[in-house]
Amino acid sequence: MAARRPVVGGNWKMNTDLLSAVDLAQSLVRVLPNLGPIDVVLFPPFTNLQAVRQVIEGTALQLGGQNVFWRDSGAFTGEISALMLRSVGCDWVLVGHSERRRLLGESSEVVNHKLHVVLRHGLSAIVAVGETQDERHSGQMEAVLADQLRESLAEVVREDMDRVVLAYEPVWAIGTGETATPDQAQQAHSFIRGVVRDLAGDDVARALRIQYGGSVTAANAATLMAKPDIDGALVGGASLKPDEFAAIVAAASP
Ligand code: PGA
Repeated sequence: MAARRPVVGGNWKMNTDLLSAVDLAQSLVRVLPNLGPIDVVLFPPFTNLQAVRQVIEGTALQLGGQNVFWRDSGAFTGEISALMLRSVGCDWVLVGHSERRRLLGESSEVVNHKLHVVLRHGLSAIVAVGETQDERHSGQMEAVLADQLRESLAEVVREDMDRVVLAYEPVWAIGTGETATPDQAQQAHSFIRGVVRDLAGDDVARALRIQYGGSVTAANAATLMAKPDIDGALVGGASLKPDEFAAIVAAASP
């Protein structure tokens, strides 16, 4: 199997104020002192990016924004551009998280605009896709994933795909304590890799890193990471607990 470098993201969501973000980052630096060949990316709220960057400076921990707007500057009240994220030391941006798709009405077309701006400015993206409980139960999982992938990745050139990581996050597993079984996740990941193969060719598909996300914990990470098409995790709740997050990083490490 192609040796893909694992990637673990800690999505802090709308948690942490300035003090607790610094505290959490300091704890993570302490519990994750020697990272091997793995990418570990922290996604604090925008207001804490700079403070967290100062804490992780000089370590192997990387920084990302949880969202981005698709224009570079201008009259877009309340929005944050890729250039702004880059200027505070972000190398990554999370786009298409289901909470944004669901609660803020982001379509895959919007996700695609965001992905393009991220790539244009030399950043890497984690693009999240996933089906709802109803879609899974009514047999639409594959169609939903294929549509999300086709639309979210539209017009992304092959050369840029090495800066795209996909996250499979079944909506019913996010923040619910209900994880996809390793077999369910593997099946979805293998399907996703197949869709990317159709879109961008075998080389891109084989090199593509696909994270699993949805109630990943220290207890379930190892069995998920053991699956051949699972290349890391996008972690919400457990990323706020340093020891738990460190155990997940260890489980994902080669
Ligand atoms: P969770 O969130 O780990 O709290 O389920 C995952 C995510 O939303 O990325």
